[in-house]
Amino acid sequence: MEVNNKLMMNKAKENNAKRVFVALGANLGEPLQQLDAAVEALQKVPEINCLAMSKVYVSKPHGPQNQPDFTNAVLAIDTTLSPEQLLDVLQRIEIEQGRERHEHWGARTLDLDIILYANQTIQTERLTIPHAYAHEREFVLQPLADLDETLVLPQHGKITELLKQLPTETMEVIRDVTTYNR
Ligand code: AMP
Repeated sequence: MEVNNKLMMNKAKENNAKRVFVALGANLGEPLQQLDAAVEALQKVPEINCLAMSKVYVSKPHGPQNQPDFTNAVLAIDTTLSPEQLLDVLQRIEIEQGRERHEHWGARTLDLDIILYANQTIQTERLTIPHAYAHEREFVLQPLADLDETLVLPQHGKITELLKQLPTETMEVIRDVTTYNR
């Protein structure tokens, strides 16, 4: 199914919705289709309004190198869900889409992480927000910049500055459009 069409679907905006950025990643099966399927699944959640999906990138794995390259993107949403409620939804979608791994840094059919939840800093047993590695990962920062160049990672600074400090990795763009629902 075509994600662009799904993204064009409008949902009533809740006044108290928070702007949240979710990282999408996969390196098993059909990664691009799995990312799009995750966006469709999120769009079906009544409390979530999908706003925009970044360009889609492929990069070498961090951690174990004996696994396929990763496909990554970032999705901007507005949601009335709390951070924990949103994590529950993301973990349900990961399981429903047949996530196969449990090795840290290992291969997976779908990984969904909350990168930013409004401008909040959260540290609980289940959640670290901003996501613990976001500030040092080009495959997170570059798609965030596709969506909003002015974003700031609480405790780390402007994403444009963070990007400049990184060694350039060889990320390949495999979908060169940012899809909007505004
Ligand atoms: P992984 O799938 O390896 O990225 O890690 C999953 C675990 O990370 C889950 O048990 C979550 O509770 C925890 N976690 C901590 N912070 C976050 C976050 N910002 N987004 C998603 N999961 C998180």
